[in-house]
Amino acid sequence: MGSLVDGFGRRFHYLRLSVTEVCNFRCTYCLPDGFKKTGPLQFISPLECERAVRAFADLGVSKVRLTGGEPSVRRDLAEIIARTAAVPGVGKVCITTNGWNLDRQIEAWREAGLTNLNVSIDSLDRDTFRKITGHDRLAQVVRGLDRALELGVPQVKVNGVLLRDTVAAGFDAFADFVRERPVAVRFIELMRTGDNADYFAAQHVPGSALTDWLTARGWRPRERAFDDGPAVEYAHPDHAGRIGLIAPYAPGFCDSCNRLRVTARGQLRLCLFGELGVGLKDLLEKDEPEALRARIRKALGEKPAGHRLHQGISGETRQLAQYGG
Ligand code: SAM
Ligand code: SF4
Repeated sequence: MGSLVDGFGRRFHYLRLSVTEVCNFRCTYCLPDGFKKTGPLQFISPLECERAVRAFADLGVSKVRLTGGEPSVRRDLAEIIARTAAVPGVGKVCITTNGWNLDRQIEAWREAGLTNLNVSIDSLDRDTFRKITGHDRLAQVVRGLDRALELGVPQVKVNGVLLRDTVAAGFDAFADFVRERPVAVRFIELMRTGDNADYFAAQHVPGSALTDWLTARGWRPRERAFDDGPAVEYAHPDHAGRIGLIAPYAPGFCDSCNRLRVTARGQLRLCLFGELGVGLKDLLEKDEPEALRARIRKALGEKPAGHRLHQGISGETRQLAQYGG
């Protein structure tokens, strides 16, 4: 039923669907004081998720990422995965998780149809991990990731945030981590949000802190697939896995934007850092696929060219847990 193209010729085949705003971690850059309830905790239902995914898939989306908040705090996550995986046209069903219950849940998620798993691990040093997340759970998270590899989850990645603290802890442990594991570790430069201005000033470091380290040790950038995110991944002949960088402040970052977001309250967000949100909830509650597709198409015509983070403008985004990073 066609494809989604915006006014700048960008095509959208990737949907990030946030299934909850709730999170059990207190990452220093995201929810340093923990999750605070700001409205009724009523989030998009499994059936509404399926309707949303169906509409986007009809419009050419083939990859769906379930995110949050922490998606795995939902007891019905396996059902959401299964409903998403069953939608015709969806080839990749991905989750981004902090991994707190991965070792217990990954089997059910895999059976439900999960194809891609992203686990957030900012540091492989136990104390640094605890200081950043507020939880002494590094070993448990790594156990869950290894279980996912054993179960043959087709793609397993690690997300880390590049911080003054993570740079200080060093990258050697990550290089060792991917020596045998076929896992891509991608560091993202810290993004400034409405809530973290002071933290940003203290902790932001440019991506060259990582890429200089990699280049000096013989790691080289690889080619990217069409539906890859904006990461540049580096490979090394002695390592099964890769290490990469996502640099949201790099020139041209928004030119290749291929993603749309739907929040846990059923709002279409055209840019993670924009003001524009388009309510879809009324159409998700009923079964109105045609009207839903029409509203999505119309909204896309209004997608802005790029974020304005360089001017210190982060839109309505107070932290990424709010809309799914
Ligand atoms: N709770 C899940 C998790 O942590 O993986 C999913 C949601 S979290 C908002 C998604 C990703 O956004 C995580 O990998 C997290 O590290 C990243 N993130 C959160 N705040 C960020 C910020 N200010 N700058 C860069 N990345 C951020
Ligand atoms: Fe929670 Fe993820 Fe934010 Fe950490 S980054 S506080 S795990 S939503």
